[in-house]
Amino acid sequence: MAYDFDLFVIGGGSGGVRAARIAATHGARVGIAEERFWGGTCVNVGCVPKKIMVNAAEYGLWADDAAAFGWEVTKGPFDLARLAARRDAEVARLNGIYGRLLGGAGATSFDARATFIDAHTLDVGGKRVTAERIIIATGGRATRPDLPGAELGMLSDDVFDLQSVPKRLLVVGAGYIALEFACVFQALGAQVDVVFRGALPLRGFDQDIREALPEALEAQGIRLHPNTTPARLDRQGDHLRLSLLGGASLEADAVLFATGRAPNTRGLNLAAAGVECTALGAVEIDDDHRTTAPNIWAIGDVTDKLNLTPMATAVGHALADTLFGNMPRRASYENVPTAVFTSPPIGTVGLTEADAVIHGPVDIYLTRFNTMRHVMTGRPGRKTLMKLVVCQRSRKILGAHMLGEDAAEIMQGIGIAVVMGATKEDFDRTIGIHPTAAEEFVTLR
Ligand code: FAD
Ligand code: NDP
Repeated sequence: MAYDFDLFVIGGGSGGVRAARIAATHGARVGIAEERFWGGTCVNVGCVPKKIMVNAAEYGLWADDAAAFGWEVTKGPFDLARLAARRDAEVARLNGIYGRLLGGAGATSFDARATFIDAHTLDVGGKRVTAERIIIATGGRATRPDLPGAELGMLSDDVFDLQSVPKRLLVVGAGYIALEFACVFQALGAQVDVVFRGALPLRGFDQDIREALPEALEAQGIRLHPNTTPARLDRQGDHLRLSLLGGASLEADAVLFATGRAPNTRGLNLAAAGVECTALGAVEIDDDHRTTAPNIWAIGDVTDKLNLTPMATAVGHALADTLFGNMPRRASYENVPTAVFTSPPIGTVGLTEADAVIHGPVDIYLTRFNTMRHVMTGRPGRKTLMKLVVCQRSRKILGAHMLGEDAAEIMQGIGIAVVMGATKEDFDRTIGIHPTAAEEFVTLR
């Protein structure tokens, strides 16, 4: 049977666009549908606009610090509407680039929603389209907790519609999104409260980082409420009141629910194609990202494996090479470096100490120090923490963790070393770059 396309990709986000573009450059006839915004979450309501806001927050902190270096700086008011306009213009520029990339590679783009009719047939904006192979790359969406009045709170997408900084912002959750926006809005002038149900933020991260982070957050004025569970949200005049289990309550002008994301599988009619989902609603896949239907694959956040943009693009690229480039390969989920863009940021790669000891004895190298800059500024809560988790037997670096300025930039390089299997002795014989914070990673003894 002749199909309209060799490959059809559902979803024009990080993973989908990469898979479609690479498959097309390998000569496949490729179609791709996007229902909302080309570039997906990352470009439109994720990494890119978020990082621009992180940068905006940093400028405020640098202005505060400048006096310590002899500058007479008067910090004027912050105008979120002005930043939002510039940020949105950059997002629009990137949308255009994504569209051009697909066209340039020879893929056919549809500005439409796609749903399954059967394993080879899709409804694409009311049009029947057939494809030999299909990739599901529909990403994820922010979810609200199940509590009365939850609809009064914002989700992360809504943050990008704000035109002014709320005076009091209450953030629920203590994962990546909660903490990044907590730091951004505190630095932009809000009083931020963070309500979370655990004893420490960032479940899953290394314990030393988790224990050091609260001091850094509180030093900038963020109020943390650990071991706290929200019960209901009510509007009271011009403000909101979050009632907590146990009877206490907190007042705010805006509430952000950053309580996790769910895979976008709703309404795709997956059953008609023989595609099954896990109990948590992610598309079920094998190690090659093939779903329970033999001609259908799934990549990125819809598989809920490691919800990061570079992971979605790496998997999409490897899959397109495998299916159409005669280059069978898999992207590795091991030793994926990641950063949380808090203030100061966190960078991490490899195993936490707790995960590493499960496999055998480890040596820990840890340092806490004041960077030269903050010895000068005296800014509280800015101590840098660096930690290496080393396998006692092989001496390999199993994990590297950092809380401190430039952690995201530094960890990318450390990530290469860890992926290559570097040992502690390889780190030891590397000459440091002086004076930097990064050099501490090669002088830890
Ligand atoms: P997406 O990028 O979500 O793309 C899926 C696309 O499919 C969407 O555009 C959607 O509209 C479309 N779609 C869905 N259903 C259909 C359908 N039926 N038909 C047609 N189109 C459909 N990751 C990082 O690595 N670094 C960061 O700093 C970072 N910051 C983030 C900040 C925030 C606030 C958020 C929310 C996420 C952040 N992430 C970050 C995560 C990152 O954005 C995601 O991991 C990444 O976008 C996943 O790519 P994807 O291709 O799987 O899905
Ligand atoms: P996370 O899973 O990281 O965090 C969710 C938070 O919400 C946790 O603190 C969790 O608590 C809490 N929570 C969940 N359900 C409830 C509930 N019902 N009531 C109260 N609290 C609740 O999700 P995010 O939404 O922050 O981010 C989603 C993913 O997006 C990240 O995991 C990451 O992969 C990606 N991302 C990456 C970024 C980056 O690379 N810099 C930035 C932003 C997002 P508990 O721990 O107790 O379960």
